[in-house]
Amino acid sequence: MKRFARLNTLSALLLAASLTTGIAHAQLAPSAPAAGAPTQASEARKANIVIIGTGGTIAGAGAAATNTAAYQSAVVPVDKIIASVPEISKIANVKGEQVFQIGSESFNNERLLKLGKRVSELLKQPDVDGIVITHGTDTIEETTYFLNLTLKSDKPVVVVGSMRPGTALGADGALNLYDAVLVASSPESRGKGTLAVLNDEIHTGRDVTKSNTFKIETFRSPFGPLGYVVEGRTLYYRLPARPHTMQTEWDIDKIDKLPEVAVVYAYGNVNPASIDAAVKNGAKAIVYAATGNGSVGDYMVEPLKAARAKGVQIVRASRTGGGVVVRNAEQPDDKYDWLVTDDQLPQKARILMALALTKTNDTKELQKIFWKY
Ligand code: ASP
Repeated sequence: MKRFARLNTLSALLLAASLTTGIAHAQLAPSAPAAGAPTQASEARKANIVIIGTGGTIAGAGAAATNTAAYQSAVVPVDKIIASVPEISKIANVKGEQVFQIGSESFNNERLLKLGKRVSELLKQPDVDGIVITHGTDTIEETTYFLNLTLKSDKPVVVVGSMRPGTALGADGALNLYDAVLVASSPESRGKGTLAVLNDEIHTGRDVTKSNTFKIETFRSPFGPLGYVVEGRTLYYRLPARPHTMQTEWDIDKIDKLPEVAVVYAYGNVNPASIDAAVKNGAKAIVYAATGNGSVGDYMVEPLKAARAKGVQIVRASRTGGGVVVRNAEQPDDKYDWLVTDDQLPQKARILMALALTKTNDTKELQKIFWKY
């Protein structure tokens, strides 16, 4: 609690500085501006933010304060999490809503759609200015990307998690949640797509990925975060280059089912039967998380071609964690009628492919979608 007391003192000092210098720190506004001081619309009233709880470590609890990585996730209700960070009520009017109480590894298409539709419903309410979603960190990158592609609103939507449960020494959830509410309340966050906020950083849903199993600085975007949250200020430095939310062809309200897309992970001695299994299980596309630049072992080419002959789309991705899979380089994609992911990680390509298949099954059109988003 000491840290937050200190934060408030500094916030008050910063606010005072902003009022005298005329620099707007809209998010800080914990009290009425002094007479004659410049005001902003956002300072005139606190934003109304709905905090949706879905579980994860941010809702986790350990047996001892020293349990930073071994604990039970998804046990603390969202209202209790909000109540544990009283500083939030100084920056926004918040309301909690529990949609799930699960580890994010348990997200599936049905849950993703349910969450997205509820967020969309809330965004349509004129008295809601933004949404924060508390979420497990394991699949934040998938949920955030999915919402980034399907929500039809400019209002800020921020997905937040933590790497340590609230019971741990050095817990990161309280500050992450405070920062997420700041970002969701900030007028500057409008029109930037669905964002992920953790560890003082603001990431775009397109790029963010979890890169470490236990460290607090686990989230990274290959081209860097969009901005920082520092001492109660939301600071943006970059914009997402690829289309999102209002600019995309998908509307969460109009999607009731996502087609099955499988990810098959490549490794030395990968079993070709894994391709057949995906086909038999009804996959409409297979994202092949290949080695290097989307390389396909000689004994895997025929099974993938056979799957394509059955109408299943084949998407070459890379398991390296970064970089572009170059079309027609490691494999003759034109000849085999295969696709490449651009720079999308296999788990992100799975989301994009599932959405793309709701629009078209034409390989050329599907490839354009990968280049575009
Ligand atoms: N397994 C947890 C989850 O994703 C991990 C976390 O939240 O950090 O729900």
